[in-house]
Amino acid sequence: MKMQKERELIVECGKLLKSSGLCPGTSGNLSICSGDRSMLAISPSGMDYDSLTPEDIVVTDLDANVIDGKRRPSSEWALHTLFYRKRPDINAVVHTHSLYCTTFAVLHEPIRAVHFAIAGAGAPEVRCAPYALFGSEELAETAVNFCGSDNAVLLANHGILCCGKDISKAYSLAVDLEYCARLQYQASCIGTPQFISAGQMQDVLRQFRGYGQ
Ligand code: 13P
Ligand code: ZN
Repeated sequence: MKMQKERELIVECGKLLKSSGLCPGTSGNLSICSGDRSMLAISPSGMDYDSLTPEDIVVTDLDANVIDGKRRPSSEWALHTLFYRKRPDINAVVHTHSLYCTTFAVLHEPIRAVHFAIAGAGAPEVRCAPYALFGSEELAETAVNFCGSDNAVLLANHGILCCGKDISKAYSLAVDLEYCARLQYQASCIGTPQFISAGQMQDVLRQFRGYGQ
């Protein structure tokens, strides 16, 4: 089986996205790019994450030719592949409709630095790309342009896309940004949130370089 390890990771991470509530129903999708960037493994379109096995994951090249797999790839295939074409620094993409991130995407407002957990986004705020139809080339173009060199972008009236050097980084970012979006929403309900300044965020990024094991 082509990209077996990556397909197993997608199944595992898909189940986490479902159980964590970030991807209700069959919403969202995820993919991993091969090391040589010639192909990607991507979740199938419209299937329940809990039912997925590695055989359900689709392997395609970057020109939409299916290399291995019997399912139809995610309807956001163009979105995922454009990120791999434009961002040589990333190898995984996680897209969700998580509730609090999508709340800001409905407002066309950024997720701001309410907490240092936003640091993984690689920017002081997560910007919102203009509305475009799900599954369209236009959505892929606007998302990749608005994301720039950041690791996340909101998709207006739709959801969020997170990317990273591996699937666990992209997944963790989706979790962290949902936490930040929820904090921003909740704080706005009872008062006026105070944001971490750009200078303070620089300190956070520096501090993270020495964080963990
Ligand atoms: P797929 O099931 O085709 O991946 O679509 C879900 C989605 O989130 C579309 O934007
Ligand atoms: Zn979507």
